[in-house]
Amino acid sequence: MLTLADVSVAFDRTLAVDDVSLEVLPGSVLAVLGPSGCGKSTLLRAIAGLEPLTGGTIAFAGQDLARVPTHRRGFALMFQDGQLFAHLSVAGNVGYALRLRRRSSSARVAELLSLVGLDGYGERLPATLSGGERQRVALARALAVEPRLLLLDEPLSALDAGLRERLAVDLRGILKAAGTTALMVTHDHEEAFQIADQLAVMRAGRVVQSGPISEVWSSPVDAETALFLGYAAVLTGTAASMVLSAGGVSSAEAGALAVRRSALIEDPAGQLLGTVESARATPELLRLVVDVVGVGVVDAVAARGSHWGPGEQVRLRVDRSRVAVIEPNRHWQPRSLQ
Ligand code: ADP
Repeated sequence: MLTLADVSVAFDRTLAVDDVSLEVLPGSVLAVLGPSGCGKSTLLRAIAGLEPLTGGTIAFAGQDLARVPTHRRGFALMFQDGQLFAHLSVAGNVGYALRLRRRSSSARVAELLSLVGLDGYGERLPATLSGGERQRVALARALAVEPRLLLLDEPLSALDAGLRERLAVDLRGILKAAGTTALMVTHDHEEAFQIADQLAVMRAGRVVQSGPISEVWSSPVDAETALFLGYAAVLTGTAASMVLSAGGVSSAEAGALAVRRSALIEDPAGQLLGTVESARATPELLRLVVDVVGVGVVDAVAARGSHWGPGEQVRLRVDRSRVAVIEPNRHWQPRSLQ
């Protein structure tokens, strides 16, 4: 298990990584997700031993790595652009680390090429491969020495969209088949959802939320996180803008609703899928007026008898007059988690 406790990394006096604590369980894949400049790569480099810590500890299997140099950590790195040796064949690239360790390589290389779906590619040169094939070679090379931790830096970002999606699914399958423990950093939530088991959302050097992906997805810690996870808009309704049209309950209070982008765009019936971030309401008929970022003011009506709680998933039906009906929707999951 990789354990980070209160890890900080500063450049001059600015903290690029600020008090980060995380765990990666054996055999699981953690994605660190955050916008450009939030400190992801610095964190990855610190774990690899390429960046000194300003504070905190990084341990693997209970051993503090402070005095363990990069090449003795037993970790492998894979980058966005693969960084293959152009003058070596595919087999030469994959077997490179094995040869350095004086281990016989040809059977293992064949096994790895098969694992990444590149049987028979051994003699090819990197220049003759597609971007996706090059990333597969880079992955096989990284896995060759059976690293106890694989560090992936935006592994699919350099590829175009369709290919990225396919390779993401394969990458997860390969990591699971090999039982690899991995930590990847990415700015792309879809990539994180497709590959990882656990998610840590990073902002301005800090981890603002972490946990199993479905948990983080269904209860984003705040509006900014929801938007970064792919929600299209965060609806905020306040008690002041709510009108209770039946039951006469006056203590109800609405928090925020978040609506996912793909649902907004894709649903042909004009349905919006969303998550109640925090709403306290009695199960009465309820009307609330909410200002939807990018949509405008929406008049929402909760069906009688619907029980909401924080993180509860709901369905918003918006008709032409901008009246939304909110119904509980307990079975809905984001597409990539189904
Ligand atoms: P990300 O990978 O999330 O895009 P980085 O870890 O690369 O972010 O950078 C985090 C912050 O640290 C940025 O403000 C960046 O400018 C700064 N930074 C990164 N590397 C260095 C460095 N070697 N020297 C000074 N500042 C750096």
